[in-house]
Amino acid sequence: MSAARKLVAVIGKRFAGPPITVGCPCGARLEVAHGDSCTCSCGRRWDTTQIEDEYQQLLRVHRRYRTYLPTALSLVTCALILALFFTGNVIGIFALLAVVLLVRSTVVRPVLGRRYAAALAQLPQWTLRPTTPSGQTVPGDGRPGSQEPAQDTPVPQDLRP
Ligand SMILES: [Zn+2]
Repeated sequence: MSAARKLVAVIGKRFAGPPITVGCPCGARLEVAHGDSCTCSCGRRWDTTQIEDEYQQLLRVHRRYRTYLPTALSLVTCALILALFFTGNVIGIFALLAVVLLVRSTVVRPVLGRRYAAALAQLPQWTLRPTTPSGQTVPGDGRPGSQEPAQDTPVPQDLRP
């Protein structure tokens, strides 16, 4: 993979939504991008478009704490560095960087992390049901040909980068 493609992949991952981890009743864990569907090895098919509203709520929280606020802080730091550079204050640049790194690691990241976790905890629990390839919810437990009653399957959210 070329450096340019790696950069595009990193930027794309930064702005893409977090993947959805589906805990299938058979025990398998499937990682699915939102909007995609997948079929487990047990035959159940999972369509992530069922949780459109819930995912959009998650995406708003995720972008606020993981994209917009860190980007804004970085842009402010860059603007201050440029201002110091054009005023000829090179020592001020190093002092600013030291302060920014210290404040970021001791204050900003822990506070943002706690607020992000609290915001995630406020989100509703997701429930996916197995579907047919045409998008209909399967009447049984989700496996082809099964008539067992369906059970709601909580979808654990895995947001680690
Ligand atoms: Zn399965």
